[in-house]
Amino acid sequence: MTDSGCIFCEILAGLSPGSFVLRDGSVSAFMDIQPINPGHLLVVPNAHAAHLADLPGPDGMAMFLAAQRRSGLRCEGVDLILADGAAAGQDVFHAHLHVIPRYAGDGFGFRFGPGYADLPERSELDVAGARILAALEAVD
Ligand SMILES: [Zn+2]
Repeated sequence: MTDSGCIFCEILAGLSPGSFVLRDGSVSAFMDIQPINPGHLLVVPNAHAAHLADLPGPDGMAMFLAAQRRSGLRCEGVDLILADGAAAGQDVFHAHLHVIPRYAGDGFGFRFGPGYADLPERSELDVAGARILAALEAVD
């Protein structure tokens, strides 16, 4: 399944260039064109799925199994980032897992919002947790 206008579907179909490192039955991986560090790649489902909620479970599992593999490139650690939704920074609406090699002093990092250092009250955590639990139980 492809989606017209989706750059990742075009790359997967060979209609746009991609530097592939993996192609298997359900997922592929290719180099990010704007790498944070050398070796930064994207693992994508072969079938178009815009968001995490659209992603079949086996494809999600295959994406993480692919992300476990390592190369000989410099890599002291790895960040796995799946931005789901524009507010989270998703810029291509074909689910993709960034695999970003990390090493000390590479300069990359997360920026925390104002108030991050303020620990919430336990009651706030419990209220949010109860809402999430209720939503999870509703889909089981
Ligand atoms: Zn797509």
